[in-house]
Amino acid sequence: MDKKELLKKYKREWIRKKRASLPKSPRRRAQTLSENHKRHIADSMKKYKRTKEHNKNLSSALLGKKLSSEHVRALSEAQKRRGTIPPSQRGRIPWNYRGATKLQAHIRKLYEYRQWRSDVFTRDNFTCKNCKQKGGRLNADHIKEFAKILQEYNILTVKEALACAELWNIDNGRTLCIPCHKNRKRWEGK
Ligand SMILES: [Zn+2]
Repeated sequence: MDKKELLKKYKREWIRKKRASLPKSPRRRAQTLSENHKRHIADSMKKYKRTKEHNKNLSSALLGKKLSSEHVRALSEAQKRRGTIPPSQRGRIPWNYRGATKLQAHIRKLYEYRQWRSDVFTRDNFTCKNCKQKGGRLNADHIKEFAKILQEYNILTVKEALACAELWNIDNGRTLCIPCHKNRKRWEGK
C-alpha cells in the first residue's frame, strides 16, 4: 500500500469514528433501526405499561405524604433540566401578554418564593406585625409591592425575577394576618 492510499484509509477511519461519536438526530436514529428492531422494542416496552389500578395505587400511596425541602428542591431542579415545566414558567411569557399577574402567579409557585415567605414568618416569629396576633392564617406581605418591583426592574421572565435581589430581600417582607393584610392601606394611612 502506498502512502496516498494509506492516508485515504486513515481519513475514512477518522470520518467513521467522528460520525459514530456525534449524537444522532431523532430522525437518523429512527432510520438506523430496522422495522423488526422497532417492533421488538415496542413489544418489550409493553410489559412496563401501568394498569389503571396500578396508577390508582400509586397515587393513593403518595397522597398526603410530605416531601422534605431538599427533595422538593431536587425535584424542581430535575424538572428544570428535563424541561417539563411549561415554557411560560421557564422563559419569556407570551408576546401578547400584557400585565404581571401571570408572571406573579408563576413566581409565587417557585421554591425560592416559598423559602422567602417562610424566612419572613420565622423572623417575625409567626406574629402579625400590626395587631400582634400570633399564628393562625398569616400572609407574608411585601412592604414595597411585588408588582411595583416587577415593574420597576422591568421583569418579564422568571429568570429575571430570580436574579433580582430586591425581590428576595426578606427586609422587604413582613408577616401580617389576613384582615390586616386586606386593610393595610387603611392602617398604613396610604
Ligand atoms: Zn393583624
